[in-house]
Parts: sequence; C-alpha cells; structure tokens
Amino acid sequence: MNDIIQQVEQLRQEAEASLAQAKNTEAIRTWHSDYLGRKGRLTALLRVLGSLSNEERPRVGKVINEAKIALEQAVQERQEALARAEMEAARSAERVDVTLPGRPQTLGKLHPTSMTLREIYAIFTAMGFQIYDSPEVETDEYNFQLLNMPPGHPARDMWDTFYTTTPELILRTHTSPGPIHAMREYAPEPIRVILPGKVYRYEQVTARSESMFYQVEGLAVGKHITFCDLKGVLTNFANQMYGEGRETRFRKSYFPFTEPSVEMDIDCVLCNRKGCPVCKYTGWLEILGAGMVHPTVLQYGGYDPSEFSGFAFGMGPDRIALQKYGIDDIRYFFTNDARLFERV
Ligand SMILES: [Zn+2]
Repeated sequence: MNDIIQQVEQLRQEAEASLAQAKNTEAIRTWHSDYLGRKGRLTALLRVLGSLSNEERPRVGKVINEAKIALEQAVQERQEALARAEMEAARSAERVDVTLPGRPQTLGKLHPTSMTLREIYAIFTAMGFQIYDSPEVETDEYNFQLLNMPPGHPARDMWDTFYTTTPELILRTHTSPGPIHAMREYAPEPIRVILPGKVYRYEQVTARSESMFYQVEGLAVGKHITFCDLKGVLTNFANQMYGEGRETRFRKSYFPFTEPSVEMDIDCVLCNRKGCPVCKYTGWLEILGAGMVHPTVLQYGGYDPSEFSGFAFGMGPDRIALQKYGIDDIRYFFTNDARLFERV
C-alpha cells in the first residue's frame, strides 16, 4: 500500500514539474491527457484500487483523489496565467507608440490666385472702385470690334482664341470687353470699376502661359480725368500690393483701345534692382498694361469724348501670384497638387 502512495506522490511531483514547462495551450492539452485523461497515468493508478483490501482502499483512494484535485487546480491556474500572458503579448504588439510624431492635419487654403484677387479687390474698392461682372463668352463685336479692332485689324493676331459652333461667338481673350458693357450700362454717369475673371487664349501652354488664366481690368470714366489720375491710382495700387516705397516706371506701349498706352513696371521685389532670373536681370518687373481710353472706344461706350475722358488698365493676378510666392510654373495652378499650398 505504501508503494502505491509513494507512486502517487512521485507522479504528482513529476506532473507538477512537467506542467511548469508547458508554454502554451497545446502543451497543456497534451499534459492533461498524459496525466488526467481517461488513459492518463493518474487515472491508471485508480484501477489498482480494486486489488486493495477494504481497509486500504479508502486511504489510497483519498491520496489519489487529493492528487487529482491538486493537479486539476494547478492546470487551471497555469491555463489562466498563460492566457493572461498571451493577451499581454498581443496588447503590447498592438500598442500605440506615443513617442512617434503625429500625422499633420492639413487645413484647406485659398488658391494663390484667389488670395491675390482678394487683395486686388480690397485695394481698389478702398479707392472707390466697384467690382463688375462681365461674360466669359463674348461676341466678336465686343471682344474686338468695339475695342477698335475691326475685322482684319493686325492687332487681332496678338490674341487667338477658342471659337464656339455659333459664328461670331467666342471665348473672350481678355477682360477688355467688360468695360464696354459697364460703359453702356452707366453712360453718361461717371464710372469706377474693376472687372475680374477668366480669359482664354489659343496658344502654346508653357511655364509662363496657360490657355486659361485670370485678368483684372480696371476702368475710370468721368470729366477731367487725366494721365496723372492713372499714374496716381496705379502707383497707389503698387505701393499697397508690393509694399510702401516701391519704385515704379511707365514705358510707352501699344493697345488698340487706349491712347496713349503704357506698361507699368515696379522695381524687382526679389533683388531690389540688382538683377535676378525672375526679372530677367533687368531689375524691373512688368505688372500691368494701361492707358487713356481711346476716344473711339469711349464713343462706342456711349460717352462723348469731347466731354469725357478715362483710363483703363489690365493685369494678370496669376502672374502676380507667381512672382509673389516664388512659384516658377503657372501650370501648377491647375494640376490639383496640394504641395502648391506649402508655398503660400
Ligand atoms: Zn530681380
């Protein structure tokens, strides 16, 4: 009898040692069937009870039962410990590393052209100019003829455009037809308007020119308006747009709808007239074209040129934005690449 009790003790110690080695649920399952299963080694010992005397049987049975209960409790604890360890391992594998830098949230921004347009609006509305909307689809008459360019006029060669299937109906090549609409609406009242919008050119797309871009036209018509008013208004604009104290210069130019005509330059904001690639080493940046409204155009607009005079100007806000933000290719404006906004 003592033999059996000793065997049970040995088996229990062996089982406990083996359980401590079990590293996963699979090993525990094997261990369970080895010792406590139907064909397990502890179960096998129960079978010898039959050969024992009535006196011995309860004592041996008690020892075996105690061993069985102890092992069952041990395996349950081991199982729970393993499950905890596995969960812990999984959790730490999925853990968020708070030391990593976060992903930046990108905020929406206005397009550089829109920002420039809004600056232009603010400057001119402060000088009493109104914003006037005019159509992007124009007739040949408004786009050319009323601007002093009858059919066959050589200046038409400067502007080729996109034609619609309706004869004489085209996409405007400049915002200059807008002033005709404004004059015909307000004549003989004095006018001060700016006319922003998209214009179209049928020409090679390059880093400097697109087939669609923005222009802002300006027009002032009234009595006693002189070239001094033109210079004053545009110099004031340049100072506000590019900073106080910018030098400006006016060069003679030609437009069919103004006489005299000029181009206005400012000293290069990037190199302060030392010369750089943006100003093509001239020290000057061309920012707009302007002139006194041609008497014929005034007449087309409904004003008597012997009584009224006026000035007009036109600028490209896309080009101003390119210079201002140091962007070297106008095509970026239409490619939907958000990296453009890192510049502005
Ligand atoms: Zn320069």
